Amino acid sequence: MTAPFVRTAPSPTGYLHIGNARSIMFNWLFAMRHGGRFLLRYDDTDKARSKPEFAAAIPEDLAWLGVGPDASIKQSERLALYDEAAARLRAAGRLYPCYESADELDRRRKRQLARGLPPIYDRAALKLTAAERAALEAEGRKPHWRFLLDWEEIGWNDLVRGPSHVDCASLSDPVLVREDGTYPYTLPSVVDDVDMGITHVIRGEDHVTNTAVQIQIIQALGGALPTFGHHNLLTTASGEGLSKRLGHLSLRGLREAGVEPLAVAALAVLTGTSDAVRPVASLEELAGLVELAHVSRAPAKFDEHELEALSARTLHHFGFAAVADRLAALGIPATEPFWLAVRGNLARLSDAAQWWRVVEGPITPGIADPAFAAAAGALLPEEPFDQTTWKSWTQAVAAATGAKGKALFMPLRQALTGLDHGPELAALLPLIGREKALKRLAGEAA
Ligand code: GLU
Repeated sequence: MTAPFVRTAPSPTGYLHIGNARSIMFNWLFAMRHGGRFLLRYDDTDKARSKPEFAAAIPEDLAWLGVGPDASIKQSERLALYDEAAARLRAAGRLYPCYESADELDRRRKRQLARGLPPIYDRAALKLTAAERAALEAEGRKPHWRFLLDWEEIGWNDLVRGPSHVDCASLSDPVLVREDGTYPYTLPSVVDDVDMGITHVIRGEDHVTNTAVQIQIIQALGGALPTFGHHNLLTTASGEGLSKRLGHLSLRGLREAGVEPLAVAALAVLTGTSDAVRPVASLEELAGLVELAHVSRAPAKFDEHELEALSARTLHHFGFAAVADRLAALGIPATEPFWLAVRGNLARLSDAAQWWRVVEGPITPGIADPAFAAAAGALLPEEPFDQTTWKSWTQAVAAATGAKGKALFMPLRQALTGLDHGPELAALLPLIGREKALKRLAGEAA
């Protein structure tokens, strides 16, 4: 394959959510796997609904996921290109003016449905004479412009769904230019994909019908057709679609909740495929796993709780290098032995702070039996401590006191950490060190 050029095209009308991440990551990982490039396109032609704060959040949310676009464009800055394409379609007789109001169209659709007819646009405007059009315009009506579809079946070999086709005779001629001269998504998307040389359009299956229409528009404009792929959409466990209103599943919300971005990426692309959802160590690893042909046709249901669990498991696999900077940014001057000791006990990275406090102190030790703690303290070996110190020490304490099992380990854990659960003491004890351990066993805050 020659190096692909893919794009993600969010509309800045809300914060990106995990469903958007599915599309974004399919594209990003595809580019990564095939040595390609990735374009970020802001689909911001809808002036009323697009908001600067949502646009500003997009690159931040992408960066959090580990996605760094090679280029970015804004549709609102490219209107001249769409005007030019519309003019060419008009000149070719593929774009025709229509004057019906939304109410008229609605009544017409209802009449068609009542007669058992498909509610598609009847092309009444095509029959208007020049005089009739002039009369409508004299009334102050402004036209919207529809693309004259060829009533043929459009087929393509979908990267996900395999051979696919849509019968365009069952579709209304799409409106490409509104009364006020603005553009709905359909035409700008095609113009940009062709102009930028996009090779692969990978998007949700809600766009399958658009693809047939857009293939016809590309052909009418004489552009090169990209390859298309339509993935199933992520839904909640109960099968609901994800709307941009689901704040806690927004990428920002997940970031604020301390969810690992790599877990979001893995869940977003592995759910609803024949590959198991599992933690990965890097986006490179994930890119090697993701096969568009493995995406299933059924909805991709996911469970939020699965995300939390996957996030924790993702953390548990990270080596120190993967988190050192983030720990430093959290104000935790962690070392590799510390990380290896505590990672298995973390639900979120920020939980490491709690274990750092346990290691550094001061903590209030939990001493239920001071005599037992004193006996254990007396047996604590000299430094240096290593991973074997805990075992030899507790064997010695068991031999001297007769305590075993929980009766042996729990009082030592409570004395050394002030808690009754936590990381392996074999790993924590060398981090705590002899001096602090002795104080804690003596009941002193240290
Ligand atoms: N703005 C469109 C959407 O978010 C882009 C679809 C596409 O990828 O072409 O659905």
